Amino acid sequence: MLKLENLSKTFGEHRVLDGISTVFPEHETTVVLGPSGSGKSTLLRSLNLLERPEAGRYHFDDELFDFGKGLSNKEILSIRKRTEMVFQEYNLFPHLTVLKNIIEGPTQVLHEAKDTAQKRAQELLVKVGLGDKADAYPSQLSGGQAQRVAIARALAMQPKYILLDEPTSALDPELELEVLKVLRQLAQEKQTLIIVTHNMAFAREVAARVLFIENGQILFDGPKAEFFNTKKQRIVDFISAMT
Ligand code: ATP
Ligand code: MG
Repeated sequence: MLKLENLSKTFGEHRVLDGISTVFPEHETTVVLGPSGSGKSTLLRSLNLLERPEAGRYHFDDELFDFGKGLSNKEILSIRKRTEMVFQEYNLFPHLTVLKNIIEGPTQVLHEAKDTAQKRAQELLVKVGLGDKADAYPSQLSGGQAQRVAIARALAMQPKYILLDEPTSALDPELELEVLKVLRQLAQEKQTLIIVTHNMAFAREVAARVLFIENGQILFDGPKAEFFNTKKQRIVDFISAMT
């Protein structure tokens, strides 16, 4: 279980996250929604410590980290290993084959044996529908294929949480479908996902919970059905503008 208490992040004068408290339960998909600039990416990046909030508490299972006191490198690494990010722009290593992209983390960070890592990488490629692409280079892939490799690469680290920031926004609708299919399957398998998306149809389908943020604050945090049936005018307006 991952829990945030009173998280704050300021850029200059701008308080981008303003007292965020929530729980991300394991084995559930949480979809993070909100208008542009509301702090969604900053929240996701904070979960993986790509951003460092200046205040707040971060609970991971029975461990507690206090942002106000700073974090040691050991603590940072320990959190990073359990929260893998998937970005909008894939961020694959261009000079490595697909297979090598996937085994890089397991062999270098987790110190897994190469043959074990390769075997699992191949299985993960099959899982994301790319069993024949192990030896391809990222430049030879479509955007949808590259994003599926990025998802396989995240899975290879066996993180507790996979954080996805608008994973399909850079893709044409047809390629988007391939990626959504993989994410849908992972959600069904109870892999814990936290997804920032503007795709309301997908949110409606895949979310167990919705977190809606605006101006760095949580306006809604609860089950999907409640979100899509809410009478809160701000949320009703947001949903109708997005669909
Ligand atoms: P979008 O839907 O457009 O991706 P978002 O909800 O992900 O938006 P964030 O990227 O978290 O929003 O940004 C929240 C606010 O913080 C924005 O006003 C943004 O300009 C500001 N911001 C984000 N990163 C930085 C940074 N490194 N330095 C200064 N300001 C930043
Ligand atoms: Mg963003």
